[in-house]
Amino acid sequence: MPNFTLQDSVFENAAKRFPTPFHLYDEPGIRERARRLRQAFSWCPDFREYFAVKALPNPAILRIMKEEGCGLDCSSATELTLAAACGFEGEKIMFSANAMPPAEFDQARALNAIINLDDASDLELLADHGGIPEQICLRYNPGGDFAIGNTIMGNPGEAKYGMPADQLRKTLERAGRMGAGRFGLHAFLSSNTMAESYYPELAGILLRLGKELEKKTGLRFSFINLSGGIGIPYRPSEPEVDIRAAAEGVRRIYETVCPEGGVAIKSELGRWMTGPCGWLVTRAVHEKKTHRDYIGVDACAADLMRPAMYGAYHHITVCGKRETPENRVYDVTGCLCENNDKFAIQRSLPEIGIGDLLVIHDTGAHGHAMGYNYNGRLRSAEILYTRDGDYRMIRRAERAEDYFSTLDLDPAAEALGLRKKNEF
Ligand SMILES: *Cc1c(COP(=O)(O)O)cnc(C)c1O
Repeated sequence: MPNFTLQDSVFENAAKRFPTPFHLYDEPGIRERARRLRQAFSWCPDFREYFAVKALPNPAILRIMKEEGCGLDCSSATELTLAAACGFEGEKIMFSANAMPPAEFDQARALNAIINLDDASDLELLADHGGIPEQICLRYNPGGDFAIGNTIMGNPGEAKYGMPADQLRKTLERAGRMGAGRFGLHAFLSSNTMAESYYPELAGILLRLGKELEKKTGLRFSFINLSGGIGIPYRPSEPEVDIRAAAEGVRRIYETVCPEGGVAIKSELGRWMTGPCGWLVTRAVHEKKTHRDYIGVDACAADLMRPAMYGAYHHITVCGKRETPENRVYDVTGCLCENNDKFAIQRSLPEIGIGDLLVIHDTGAHGHAMGYNYNGRLRSAEILYTRDGDYRMIRRAERAEDYFSTLDLDPAAEALGLRKKNEF
């Protein structure tokens, strides 16, 4: 079920220091998860988690990941810049290519990052933009549906990522001829999956494919990259994925397919690492009773897009009312002129009063990061609840001048008190 590790007083005290809305992240919780993952894979000597930067791209969080021995998975120029600014380089950075501007290869190569190629054509681009490195990773897409037993877990056949096996073999051979000597194999076949068997299944697919390719090409894989995709329980009825059991499952497959060892394992978890350690803290500012009962809050989809975009469930609790019976039914809404701007639809909740502090759970991954500025709405601050029980603002809330900073506003700029006209 959603994460209830923090007391309401933690959110209430934060809201005394910082104006709502804000995302609050639990530093000890994030460190605990990083350690639990490392421990689960401690049987694999070269295991490394490359935290998916896109899930929570804040330097304070990335530095925590660094201290916990993680690398970073980046897939844009700005994410590479963030990684470099936080002291990551070389094999601590995975760069996942995906139809991005070729100059980003130059940047990734300058950092000596491990590059994960998405397509055969990337090889030429890379040769022209930074050169072919000694070590290279290739992204596999098996096509069709990805099923575990009778359950369809994903649709790689519709996914834009990765290469089919025949293309992958050709790309591997070409990369070998162009000078690469060590190889990795990557696939991401299922997102937000709660199946403990996902990583073991995927490891089996990649290890077997690696063996087959080695037989055909004589080229050896030094690691497999299980990527991200392990889910978290957003709903109270859902159990957590047992990461230890998942890692043990990977070990069993590994010992069967690859008893001689020598292949390292990498992961690129985003959601699993930080999702349960973030909460969007927002205040009830409006109540409206029409065809339904609505509670308007001071956060909106600009701060957390998942409910509007995917209809995603995020659990909501009301500070100080955990024991109050949930005998009211509300739609909890933001202020966008978009009817999908609802954090909850027809949700049973305790009676909510204006000024009550609402806590929206599991916003620590793909939460603030997916925010946007529709309707001219400005994104919230991010607060770190630190190891010593203090609070640190790790991103201020956006201000109007941030929104206007890419526009040619003059002469309106002066009326708004903005200092200078932007240069074009
Ligand atoms: C998004 C992404 C991840 C992280 O996915 P989660 O679902 O957050 O675990 C990892 N690797 C790549 C290449 C991604 O695009």
